[in-house]
Amino acid sequence: MFQVCIKCGTPAIQVNKEAVENKLEKELKISARDKIYACPSASCKTVYFSKEMNFTTDELNEAIFFKDTSDDVSICYCSNLTRGEIKNAVNNGCKTIDEVRDFTGKNITGNCKEQNPLGKCCRNSFLYEIEQALGQKPSVFNFKPCSCCC
Ligand SMILES: [Zn+2]
Repeated sequence: MFQVCIKCGTPAIQVNKEAVENKLEKELKISARDKIYACPSASCKTVYFSKEMNFTTDELNEAIFFKDTSDDVSICYCSNLTRGEIKNAVNNGCKTIDEVRDFTGKNITGNCKEQNPLGKCCRNSFLYEIEQALGQKPSVFNFKPCSCCC
């Protein structure tokens, strides 16, 4: 079902509840029936929402890459590989995900369903950050899930 953010109207992304529970400051069990969505807009304070709930960036236990544009935010949450580390690797000649993983030594993957704030593989956001660091200015953030690890 198509949903937009209840605060800003940006088209939202449905997320699994495990991913949301892991990113919230408060220990909270979300009902299995509750459909949770994420707002991808960096300028909106609402991170996750459902019919009954609205969680803002103040209620997170970890910075989230699509809300926080600083360099110390994780892009790959399985490895705690940050945006700054990707930039540094690209500045040192890396052009692919594998090259960045080799350069940083951060190559743990496979826990995206629980660790990634969208409950999806980091691959597309990883590619986006590499393209940004290479100065290719990707215009569209691709939130589509991929099938490489989850
Ligand atoms: Zn929003």
